[in-house]
Amino acid sequence: MIPFNKPYLTGKEAHYMYSAVFTGKLSGNGQYTQMCQNFFEQKYKFKKCLLTTSCTDALEMCALLLRIEPGDEIIIPSYTFVSTALAFIRQGAKVIFADSNTGNPNLDANQIESLITDRTKAIVPVHYAGIACDMDKIMEIAKKYNLFVVEDAAHSIDSYYISSKYGEKRALGSIGHLAAFSFHETKNIISGEGGMLAINDEQFVHRAEIIWEKGTNRAEFFRGEVNKYGWVDIGSSFLPSEVIAAFLWAQIEHLDEIQNRRKELWEQYYKGLIPLAEKGHFSLPKHSDNVTKNAHMFYLICNSLEERSNLLTYLKQCGILAVFHYLSLHISPYYYDKHDGRNLPNCDRYSDCIVRLPMFFELKFDEITRIVSSIQNFYLQI
Ligand SMILES: *Cc1c(COP(=O)(O)O)cnc(C)c1O
Repeated sequence: MIPFNKPYLTGKEAHYMYSAVFTGKLSGNGQYTQMCQNFFEQKYKFKKCLLTTSCTDALEMCALLLRIEPGDEIIIPSYTFVSTALAFIRQGAKVIFADSNTGNPNLDANQIESLITDRTKAIVPVHYAGIACDMDKIMEIAKKYNLFVVEDAAHSIDSYYISSKYGEKRALGSIGHLAAFSFHETKNIISGEGGMLAINDEQFVHRAEIIWEKGTNRAEFFRGEVNKYGWVDIGSSFLPSEVIAAFLWAQIEHLDEIQNRRKELWEQYYKGLIPLAEKGHFSLPKHSDNVTKNAHMFYLICNSLEERSNLLTYLKQCGILAVFHYLSLHISPYYYDKHDGRNLPNCDRYSDCIVRLPMFFELKFDEITRIVSSIQNFYLQI
């Protein structure tokens, strides 16, 4: 069976974890944490990074930083993972779900303005599959209505957006006021469970460190900036242990190699599948050309739910594990009676029709050849 995902170990993970254990500094915010944070700050030009125990945690920190309160409204795509909504729901916010684009699952920026009310506090775009949303438009709307933008960059490490307005290439996660990344074992670089908050708006840096360290100013104390630390705000224990950061550091050392390999695999899929897409058997995502890809995912969009179910079953019979993805959140058991009743047809279509193909570092070219020809055979027989 070709699995859907296989976590890749670069080789040094256990070594660095061992070294973290024997330095005697096991709790968070030690040397490995700082090495990881510095790396990301420098490479992607974030003002400040804080490792967290998950992307969900980083999103929760965003909700606390933005002082989200009951009654506030947050605009989120419905086609996303639960955590994008959950972080804000937990603070009592109302989530206003937006539909996706016709050509890809990213939030349709042209619909945002019609969803804004005087209670709207933030927009949370999700860069699906590591491909940027229309950030120029989203930032422009945010500025016009005085809203915050939190990028859910869970898929988006090492991917970029070229601003057509300013002509600059910017890392995803460095554009919104805040951004959240994931290092869950299904993402490009991993630490088992893990995440990161990226802060781009200076006003949040100081308070983020406090929220991260259980509402205390301990981080300042460690740097010798204050001579005692205490309880100064709300917060939680959002920081991972050094052992987790040590694991992540081993992955970071191989980031370029991981990305290059994934992009090669992605290209091979694309070349193999484009002729079938051109025949209309399914479609491949469409994007504007001011985005880069980070090969987080390779997916196709079937023409119907029934066809997708048949394709997934067929591939399983061929020893290939392909999977579907999110279910629209606006019709989820938890939220459907809180949603305002608008139909979000593109989200529902992606819920029904997306197929994600195996994508992981150790996937082989001849395995992709086999996957592509199995897909070909499926469409020959129907
Ligand atoms: C994986 C994922 C998350 C959650 O990440 P965790 O690190 O598991 O908390 C959030 N949003 C999106 C879009 C994701 O894909």
